[in-house]
Amino acid sequence: MTDKPLHLKIVKGHSIQAACPLCQRPAEILYRPFCSRRCAQLDLGKWLTGSYAIPSHEAMEDSDVETLLAAHESQQAAQADDDS
Ligand SMILES: [Zn+2]
Repeated sequence: MTDKPLHLKIVKGHSIQAACPLCQRPAEILYRPFCSRRCAQLDLGKWLTGSYAIPSHEAMEDSDVETLLAAHESQQAAQADDDS
């Protein structure tokens, strides 16, 4: 008779390989909690545009994400110029 409940083994497995919150694929350690750079950027893009809770696009193109990131960075650069 074993003293180790089966569910502990299942929980341990989940903690090692968490699912990507965007696409549910296994998370990659480099990009955790996401599975890839693409999913990490998609999540960032949603926060930047304030539409995180409203997934209006099933799948954004990489170019869209990079446009969002570029716009955000130029906005920060402009603010930095104002300060100095
Ligand atoms: Zn993913």
